[in-house]
Amino acid sequence: MIQLKKVSKVFSNGLKVLDNIELTVQKNEFLYLVGPSGAGKSTLLKLIFREQHPSQGEIYIDNFLLNTIQADQIPYLRRNIGVVFQDFKLLPKRTVFENIAFALRFLNYSRRRLRRQVTQVLSLVGLNEKMSRLPSELSGGEQQRICIARAIVNNPSILLADEPTGNLDPDTSIDIIQLLSKINLLRNTTMIVATHNQAIVNDIRKRVIELKNGKIVRDQQLGAYCQ
Ligand code: ADP
Repeated sequence: MIQLKKVSKVFSNGLKVLDNIELTVQKNEFLYLVGPSGAGKSTLLKLIFREQHPSQGEIYIDNFLLNTIQADQIPYLRRNIGVVFQDFKLLPKRTVFENIAFALRFLNYSRRRLRRQVTQVLSLVGLNEKMSRLPSELSGGEQQRICIARAIVNNPSILLADEPTGNLDPDTSIDIIQLLSKINLLRNTTMIVATHNQAIVNDIRKRVIELKNGKIVRDQQLGAYCQ
Protein backbone atom coordinates (compact mmCIF):
# COMPACT_ATOMS: atom_id res chain seq x y z
CA MET A 1 0.00 0.00 0.00
CA ILE A 2 2.80 2.45 0.91
CA GLN A 3 6.28 1.62 -0.30
CA LEU A 4 9.50 3.60 -0.04
CA LYS A 5 12.42 2.28 -2.08
CA LYS A 6 15.90 3.63 -1.37
CA VAL A 7 14.46 7.03 -0.43
CA SER A 8 16.81 9.83 0.60
CA LYS A 9 16.08 13.46 1.32
CA VAL A 10 18.76 16.14 1.27
CA PHE A 11 17.68 19.73 1.94
CA SER A 12 19.11 22.59 -0.10
CA ASN A 13 21.45 23.47 2.79
CA GLY A 14 23.08 20.04 2.32
CA LEU A 15 21.46 18.40 5.35
CA LYS A 16 20.73 14.73 4.68
CA VAL A 17 17.60 14.02 6.69
CA LEU A 18 16.63 10.63 5.27
CA ASP A 19 19.19 8.14 4.06
CA ASN A 20 18.28 5.18 1.86
CA ILE A 21 14.96 4.40 3.51
CA GLU A 22 13.30 1.09 2.64
CA LEU A 23 9.81 0.75 4.09
CA THR A 24 6.67 -1.17 3.19
CA VAL A 25 3.43 -0.50 5.02
CA GLN A 26 0.59 -2.92 4.30
CA LYS A 27 -3.00 -1.88 3.92
CA ASN A 28 -4.72 -1.57 7.34
CA GLU A 29 -1.45 -1.51 9.29
CA PHE A 30 -0.91 0.76 12.31
CA LEU A 31 2.64 1.84 12.91
CA TYR A 32 4.50 4.23 15.13
CA LEU A 33 7.40 6.24 13.82
CA VAL A 34 9.73 6.99 16.74
CA GLY A 35 13.12 8.56 17.17
CA PRO A 36 14.72 11.69 18.59
CA SER A 37 13.76 15.18 17.52
CA GLY A 38 15.32 15.91 14.14
CA ALA A 39 15.46 12.22 13.16
CA GLY A 40 13.38 12.84 10.03
CA LYS A 41 9.91 11.65 11.14
CA SER A 42 7.97 14.69 9.87
CA THR A 43 9.97 14.73 6.66
CA LEU A 44 9.04 11.10 6.02
CA LEU A 45 5.34 11.90 6.48
CA LYS A 46 5.65 14.95 4.21
CA LEU A 47 7.16 12.81 1.46
CA ILE A 48 4.20 10.41 1.65
CA PHE A 49 1.77 13.35 1.58
CA ARG A 50 3.71 14.77 -1.37
CA GLU A 51 4.37 18.01 0.49
CA GLN A 52 8.06 17.39 -0.17
CA HIS A 53 9.89 15.47 -2.86
CA PRO A 54 12.52 12.79 -2.28
CA SER A 55 16.03 13.65 -3.48
CA GLN A 56 16.49 10.00 -4.44
CA GLY A 57 14.42 6.86 -4.50
CA GLU A 58 10.82 6.01 -5.25
CA ILE A 59 7.60 6.30 -3.27
CA TYR A 60 4.55 4.25 -4.21
CA ILE A 61 1.04 4.52 -2.87
CA ASP A 62 -1.17 1.66 -4.04
CA ASN A 63 1.42 0.83 -6.69
CA PHE A 64 1.16 4.40 -7.94
CA LEU A 65 4.53 6.11 -8.28
CA LEU A 66 4.41 9.50 -6.52
CA ASN A 67 7.65 10.76 -8.11
CA THR A 68 6.00 11.29 -11.47
CA ILE A 69 2.56 12.41 -10.33
CA GLN A 70 1.23 15.45 -12.24
CA ALA A 71 0.32 18.60 -10.30
CA ASP A 72 -3.36 18.25 -11.20
CA GLN A 73 -3.44 14.74 -9.69
CA ILE A 74 -2.13 15.81 -6.28
CA PRO A 75 -5.57 16.84 -4.91
CA TYR A 76 -6.88 13.33 -5.72
CA LEU A 77 -3.92 11.76 -3.94
CA ARG A 78 -4.48 13.97 -0.90
CA ARG A 79 -8.16 13.10 -0.73
CA ASN A 80 -7.03 9.59 0.00
CA ILE A 81 -4.68 10.67 2.80
CA GLY A 82 -5.87 12.34 6.01
CA VAL A 83 -3.39 14.34 8.09
CA VAL A 84 -3.42 15.21 11.82
CA PHE A 85 -0.91 17.52 13.51
CA GLN A 86 0.20 18.40 17.02
CA ASP A 87 -1.29 21.92 16.81
CA PHE A 88 -4.89 21.49 15.91
CA LYS A 89 -5.20 23.97 13.01
CA LEU A 90 -8.98 24.31 13.42
CA LEU A 91 -10.78 27.35 12.00
CA PRO A 92 -11.39 29.40 15.17
CA LYS A 93 -14.56 31.17 14.05
CA ARG A 94 -16.28 28.10 12.61
CA THR A 95 -18.30 25.58 14.59
CA VAL A 96 -17.23 21.99 15.00
CA PHE A 97 -19.71 20.97 12.30
CA GLU A 98 -18.41 23.63 9.90
CA ASN A 99 -14.79 22.73 10.56
CA ILE A 100 -15.44 19.15 9.51
CA ALA A 101 -17.75 20.02 6.61
CA PHE A 102 -15.04 22.37 5.32
CA ALA A 103 -12.94 19.33 4.41
CA LEU A 104 -15.69 18.23 2.00
CA ARG A 105 -16.14 21.62 0.32
CA PHE A 106 -14.83 20.58 -3.10
CA LEU A 107 -16.88 17.42 -3.37
CA ASN A 108 -20.26 18.89 -4.36
CA TYR A 109 -22.16 16.72 -1.90
CA SER A 110 -25.87 17.38 -1.31
CA ARG A 111 -26.64 19.05 2.05
CA ARG A 112 -28.15 15.78 3.20
CA ARG A 113 -25.11 13.71 2.33
CA LEU A 114 -22.80 16.30 3.88
CA ARG A 115 -24.79 16.30 7.11
CA ARG A 116 -24.90 12.51 7.21
CA GLN A 117 -21.18 12.15 6.67
CA VAL A 118 -20.26 14.79 9.27
CA THR A 119 -22.63 13.43 11.92
CA GLN A 120 -21.40 9.88 11.32
CA VAL A 121 -17.81 10.87 11.87
CA LEU A 122 -18.72 12.97 14.92
CA SER A 123 -20.38 9.90 16.46
CA LEU A 124 -17.27 7.88 15.75
CA VAL A 125 -15.10 10.37 17.68
CA GLY A 126 -17.78 10.69 20.40
CA LEU A 127 -18.56 14.39 19.99
CA ASN A 128 -21.96 14.53 18.31
CA GLU A 129 -23.43 16.70 21.02
CA LYS A 130 -20.75 19.37 20.54
CA MET A 131 -21.25 20.01 16.84
CA SER A 132 -22.44 23.61 17.38
CA ARG A 133 -19.55 24.64 19.63
CA LEU A 134 -16.57 26.72 18.60
CA PRO A 135 -13.08 25.15 18.94
CA SER A 136 -12.26 27.53 21.82
CA GLU A 137 -15.13 25.98 23.79
CA LEU A 138 -13.53 22.53 23.66
CA SER A 139 -10.72 20.89 25.62
CA GLY A 140 -7.43 20.05 23.87
CA GLY A 141 -8.40 16.38 23.63
CA GLU A 142 -11.78 17.29 22.14
CA GLN A 143 -10.10 19.60 19.61
CA GLN A 144 -7.81 16.79 18.54
CA ARG A 145 -10.84 14.49 18.15
CA ILE A 146 -12.36 17.08 15.84
CA CYS A 147 -9.13 17.21 13.83
CA ILE A 148 -9.22 13.44 13.52
CA ALA A 149 -12.88 13.60 12.45
CA ARG A 150 -11.98 16.22 9.84
CA ALA A 151 -9.10 14.08 8.57
CA ILE A 152 -11.24 10.96 8.10
CA VAL A 153 -14.61 12.44 7.07
CA ASN A 154 -13.95 11.54 3.48
CA ASN A 155 -12.90 8.02 4.45
CA PRO A 156 -9.27 8.19 3.28
CA SER A 157 -7.38 4.91 3.16
CA ILE A 158 -4.36 6.43 4.95
CA LEU A 159 -4.07 8.65 8.03
CA LEU A 160 -0.75 10.33 8.87
CA ALA A 161 -0.50 11.77 12.39
CA ASP A 162 2.48 13.96 13.30
CA GLU A 163 2.89 14.11 17.10
CA PRO A 164 -0.90 14.00 17.60
CA THR A 165 -0.54 13.90 21.39
CA GLY A 166 2.19 16.54 21.63
CA ASN A 167 -0.09 19.08 23.35
CA LEU A 168 -2.10 16.67 25.48
CA ASP A 169 -1.87 15.28 29.00
CA PRO A 170 -1.02 11.57 29.47
CA ASP A 171 -4.59 10.26 29.94
CA THR A 172 -5.94 12.25 27.00
CA SER A 173 -3.01 11.06 24.89
CA ILE A 174 -3.97 7.43 25.54
CA ASP A 175 -7.60 8.23 24.61
CA ILE A 176 -6.49 9.76 21.32
CA ILE A 177 -4.33 6.78 20.36
CA GLN A 178 -7.16 4.42 21.34
CA LEU A 179 -9.41 6.42 19.03
CA LEU A 180 -6.89 6.10 16.18
CA SER A 181 -6.66 2.38 16.89
CA LYS A 182 -10.47 2.09 16.76
CA ILE A 183 -10.58 3.92 13.42
CA ASN A 184 -7.83 1.64 12.11
CA LEU A 185 -9.97 -1.40 12.99
CA LEU A 186 -13.40 -0.07 12.03
CA ARG A 187 -12.49 1.70 8.80
CA ASN A 188 -9.37 -0.25 7.83
CA THR A 189 -7.46 3.02 7.67
CA THR A 190 -3.70 2.59 7.42
CA MET A 191 -2.17 4.65 10.27
CA ILE A 192 1.30 6.11 10.59
CA VAL A 193 1.78 7.95 13.88
CA ALA A 194 5.01 9.89 14.45
CA THR A 195 5.48 10.30 18.18
CA HIS A 196 7.81 11.05 21.05
CA ASN A 197 5.33 9.73 23.55
CA GLN A 198 6.97 6.70 25.15
CA ALA A 199 3.97 5.84 27.35
CA ILE A 200 1.56 5.39 24.46
CA VAL A 201 3.98 3.35 22.38
CA ASN A 202 4.59 1.11 25.37
CA ASP A 203 0.91 0.88 26.42
CA ILE A 204 -0.79 0.41 23.07
CA ARG A 205 1.58 -1.91 21.24
CA LYS A 206 1.86 -1.72 17.46
CA ARG A 207 4.58 -2.02 14.84
CA VAL A 208 7.43 0.38 15.66
CA ILE A 209 9.79 1.95 13.12
CA GLU A 210 12.70 3.77 14.75
CA LEU A 211 14.57 6.46 12.84
CA LYS A 212 18.02 7.65 13.85
CA ASN A 213 20.19 10.00 11.83
CA GLY A 214 17.90 9.53 8.85
CA LYS A 215 18.08 5.71 8.84
CA ILE A 216 15.65 3.03 9.97
CA VAL A 217 17.46 1.39 12.87
CA ARG A 218 14.55 -0.80 14.02
CA ASP A 219 11.38 -2.29 12.55
CA GLN A 220 9.59 -4.33 15.19
CA GLN A 221 6.09 -5.79 15.44
CA LEU A 222 4.36 -4.90 18.73
CA GLY A 223 7.48 -3.01 19.78
CA ALA A 224 8.17 -0.76 22.75
CA TYR A 225 9.48 2.83 22.50
CA CYS A 226 13.01 1.72 23.34
CA GLN A 227 14.48 -1.59 22.37
P1 ADP B 1 11.51 15.04 13.34
O1 ADP B 1 10.08 15.08 12.85
O2 ADP B 1 12.00 13.64 13.55
O3 ADP B 1 11.74 15.90 14.55
P2 ADP B 1 12.08 16.54 10.91
O4 ADP B 1 11.76 15.67 9.77
O5 ADP B 1 11.11 17.62 11.29
O6 ADP B 1 12.44 15.63 12.18
O7 ADP B 1 13.47 17.29 10.65
C1 ADP B 1 14.66 16.58 10.42
C2 ADP B 1 15.78 17.57 10.23
O8 ADP B 1 15.58 18.28 9.02
C3 ADP B 1 15.87 18.64 11.31
O9 ADP B 1 17.24 18.86 11.59
C4 ADP B 1 15.24 19.84 10.69
O10 ADP B 1 15.76 21.03 11.22
C5 ADP B 1 15.61 19.68 9.24
N1 ADP B 1 14.64 20.27 8.29
C6 ADP B 1 13.30 20.04 8.25
N2 ADP B 1 12.75 20.73 7.23
C7 ADP B 1 13.75 21.39 6.62
C8 ADP B 1 13.83 22.28 5.48
N3 ADP B 1 12.73 22.58 4.78
N4 ADP B 1 15.05 22.78 5.13
C9 ADP B 1 16.16 22.45 5.83
N5 ADP B 1 16.17 21.61 6.91
C10 ADP B 1 14.98 21.10 7.30
